[in-house]
Order: sequence, then C-alpha cells, then structure tokens
Amino acid sequence: MSNILEQLRALKARRNAVILAHNYQTGDIQDVADYVGDSLGLAFKAKETSADVILFAGVHFMAETAKIVNPAKRVVIPTLEAGCSLADSCNATDLAKWKAAHPGVVIVAYINCTAAVKAQVDIICTSGNAVKVVNSIPRDKQILFCPDENLGQWVMEQTGCKMILWPGVCHVHVKFTAESLAKLRAAHPDVKVVAHPECLPIVRSMADEVCSTEKMLAYCKASPSKAFIIVTESGMLHRLKKELPDKQFFAGPTDTCSCNECEYMKKNTLANCVAALETLSPEITLPEDIRRRALVPIERMMALGR
Ligand code: SF4
Repeated sequence: MSNILEQLRALKARRNAVILAHNYQTGDIQDVADYVGDSLGLAFKAKETSADVILFAGVHFMAETAKIVNPAKRVVIPTLEAGCSLADSCNATDLAKWKAAHPGVVIVAYINCTAAVKAQVDIICTSGNAVKVVNSIPRDKQILFCPDENLGQWVMEQTGCKMILWPGVCHVHVKFTAESLAKLRAAHPDVKVVAHPECLPIVRSMADEVCSTEKMLAYCKASPSKAFIIVTESGMLHRLKKELPDKQFFAGPTDTCSCNECEYMKKNTLANCVAALETLSPEITLPEDIRRRALVPIERMMALGR
C-alpha cells in the first residue's frame, strides 16, 4: 500500500497534478486526494489551483464538468468504465428531440448529466441548490427537470412548482427500501435518518433530513444527535467518520445488503489512479463548442449561488 501511495504522490508532483475524489470514492482514494467533495465543488476547487493536470477520481460526467470549468488543464480519469446509470438515462439525442417537440419549455438539468446534455439546457442545478434554481424561474414557465425523477419530485414538493420529469433514476439510490430502513431504525431508535433526494419518495418520507452529500456533513455536525443512518452511497460514510469521529454512522440498507455501493464509482482504484497519471490517459476532451455551451447553464446556476 505505502509503495503505491508513494508512486501516486511522486507522479502527482511530477505532473503538477491535483487529485480530486468524489464523496463516493473508496477511503484509500479519499485519503490521498487533495480535495474530497461533490462534483461541482471539486471542479471549482481545481480552478483555484495552479495544477496543470486534474486526476478526477469520480465518474465520467464529473470529469467532463471539471473540463468544462478548467479548459486549460488536462483532465484524466482512472478508467472510462466509471460511468453513471443516471447520466446514461438521458442521452443528448433524445433530449434534442424532446426539446424540438416542446419549444418554450425551460430545461433544468441536475449536474449528473453529460456535457452534451448540459450544452442543451437552460440552467444546471445540484441536489444542494435545486430548490433555489427552480424557484428562480418564473412560475408561468413550463419546466422540464432532467435526468433524475426522484430529485425532481422532491423539488416539486419543496417548491410547489409542477414540472415535467425526465424518467431517469440513480440505480443506487432507488435500491434503498422503506422496509430495510425501518428495521435498522428499530434496532437503533435514537438515530437520525439522513437521506439523499435521489432516494424514492417512501424512503425520503422516513428521513429526518433530506439533503445533498455536502449538506449531510453540515447537518450531522450541527445536530445534537450522536448517531445517524446515512441513506446514500456508502463511500460517504468514510468522510463523515473521518470528519466527525465522535459520532456514529450506519449505512443505509437495501433488502439484500447492509450498505449500497455504486459499482461505477468503485471501478476507480489506487492502481488505475497511478496509471492515469503515468500515461495521462484516459483523458477527457470536449469539442470547444460543446464545452462553451455547457458552461453557460453552469454559470447561470453559479450566479444564483451554490
Ligand atoms: S451513485 Fe448513482 S448518480 Fe452517482 S455515479 Fe453512481 S449511478 Fe451515477
């Protein structure tokens, strides 16, 4: 282990690279990263650095977001196998057809989508600011929310704004069930349940707090409660345990497992992080017109605040 960590650190220095790890990465990758966080926050953290290279330990659309925001930096990803079922559920061609058939509809896209989708939409949101973004749109406008229908439904509940929802889901978050969560909570009656808005409505309805991964940290820190069930991808627990060592965290369960991992996120390993920095591949590149068009809805969101 120490050998591979030494290799990674040496390569990082040689390449003048910054290592970004998403909250859902394995603990060993989080521990060696310069920054750990959500995809938007990481893309902008990298912008503040003078690094020439970004190693994005996350999934493909996240590395694309980093490239959109950091065009002068080379962006590499540990493996192209790190995809995303949610981003795949909304392809750019289908969205273009939908858009042509529905002129005048404002399209809000969750950041978990490809650059080619971002390039076609009016404004981007994160799970942390989706309510603010939707509230910024005049109420007489028809809105399409894509690609996550569960997040979209939660935003509708929070805003009272009726939207058309793209039928996409994160296969990880829809696996959490009310039955398994009820059993775990019964075994730990004093815990607070914190769920990601990509979860199914029945699971969200059982939560004390529904929020983004970044807000989970702030919520657990501020809460007087000492124990929490975290209903999101289990990599999040590593960061929570590390930053809040005096509190106890249980992974949200499914009907078949006591935790839930995203197999795409877990395609990244220390070994393929080393290989990516050694070879500077797989590199994420984008046609400049797509990159520029994809930046516009991100900047509109940033103008509203994260
Ligand atoms: S957890 Fe869900 S949304 Fe996140 S990368 Fe995996 S499939 Fe995509």
